[in-house]
Amino acid sequence: MPFDPSPAVDLPQEPDVVIVGAGSAGIGAARRLLSQGLTVAVLEARVRIGGRTTTQLFKGHPVDLGAHWLHAGPINPLVKLGFERREPLRRAPVEGHFYVRGKPGRPFERAALDRAFDMADRAMTLAARAPEDRPAARALPAGMGPLGRRVSDIHGLVSGRPLGEVSLHDFPSMEYADNLFIAGGLGGYVARLGKDLPVRLASAVHAIDWSGGDVRVESASGTLRAKAVIVTTPMAVLQGDAIRFAPALPNEVREAIQGFTQGVYEHVILHWPDAPFKGPDRLATLTGTRRSPPGLLTRIDGTPFHFFELDQTHAAHFDRRDPHAPARFARDILAEHFGYRALRNLSVMHATAWRNDPWSRASWAVIQPGLAPIRDLLKAPVGERIWFAGEALSRAQWGTAGGAWEEGERAANEVVQKLKVSG
Ligand SMILES: Cc1cc2nc3c(=O)[nH]c(=O)nc-3n(C[C@H](O)[C@H](O)[C@H](O)COP(=O)(O)OP(=O)(O)OC[C@H]3O[C@@H](n4cnc5c(N)ncnc54)[C@H](O)[C@@H]3O)c2cc1C
Repeated sequence: MPFDPSPAVDLPQEPDVVIVGAGSAGIGAARRLLSQGLTVAVLEARVRIGGRTTTQLFKGHPVDLGAHWLHAGPINPLVKLGFERREPLRRAPVEGHFYVRGKPGRPFERAALDRAFDMADRAMTLAARAPEDRPAARALPAGMGPLGRRVSDIHGLVSGRPLGEVSLHDFPSMEYADNLFIAGGLGGYVARLGKDLPVRLASAVHAIDWSGGDVRVESASGTLRAKAVIVTTPMAVLQGDAIRFAPALPNEVREAIQGFTQGVYEHVILHWPDAPFKGPDRLATLTGTRRSPPGLLTRIDGTPFHFFELDQTHAAHFDRRDPHAPARFARDILAEHFGYRALRNLSVMHATAWRNDPWSRASWAVIQPGLAPIRDLLKAPVGERIWFAGEALSRAQWGTAGGAWEEGERAANEVVQKLKVSG
């Protein structure tokens, strides 16, 4: 990856606000603060902006390595902004492909799976109203057989953990309907939104001193003093004590940070011109054999590229010393459905490993049973000068770029209020 230190942008030495991290949350926060006339410096550990949204060219086609879907269209701030900016948004198809043992499934087989999803969703939504939280898996109706397992696997995939490890109270609060895509990739879009912001790259923050009336933020590129700091570092990175706070964060804040688990979701990027799937951007469900792809998004943007998605259960078994294991896994499963001959011109271009990346350590943050309130707990500022933001704090859009953006803007609005009051 080329090192682009954004030389055009000067960073203020004593900004009003330092933002840690230039992903969706950090970019959303910076734009909001700047629009309110505050001075800002964004410190980013990587040599690029965008965090867990990034788009890379494969054979000349832009492909997202991280977030790709714009979920929850009606409430997603990136969708609203995208329409305002006349970005090339398009609605995601609702109908997906459905295959049984490599052949298009019959309507009644597809209808049975749809019914199983409806039954499970109703049961979970209802059960989540009970005051006592429990693992989301326990709310699934009993006796649903293989279809029930498929539903549970899909929900586990999009949650980032098996449903037995996900809070039932937290699970149905997530809005998923009315999805969109953007031509050129979501990573490309977020990078456009971050262009020309005051960001310093290769500047991992390792200490935040809030012992005085302000904050001193120490990074690989020096120390900045500011009135407030917005920390958008992923929860899994904070759990690893990448940033030392002095004085230490209050106990309840530290416990809330430790309450998240690592959501895992990885793309195995396939180039497969002869894939049997027709039409752009469709999910495909393959059933009827021993194993199924945890998730499959076909013909991305109408190209020969496809995402074979890995869930936590499978990704956890891959040895990080064997980078080809995800490719073999994807091939073996697709061969189970379509036969090896059908895979003749399939190439695996790349398999992501966000779970091993030191600046993300997960695809997103997941709430364990019993801990649903921690998203809100972390919204309260610490000492009136440290705010946390990022996907992990969004109630209705957790685990998403839109949720991260929303949280970045929320924290920025609160900082503006605070700094106005204190003059
Ligand atoms: C494979 C995959 C697929 C996904 N699919 C979707 C999807 O389809 N739709 C969707 O909406 N979401 C999806 N997500 C989730 C989405 O990418 C994230 O929820 C969102 O991008 C998080 O934004 P953020 O700003 O909270 O965190 P990040 O984007 O991680 O930004 C935080 C930034 O902080 C930086 N940082 C970390 N530590 C430090 C430090 N010490 N000092 C300075 N900087 C630091 C990081 O480098 C990073 O740039 C997916 C994620 C993955 C991995």
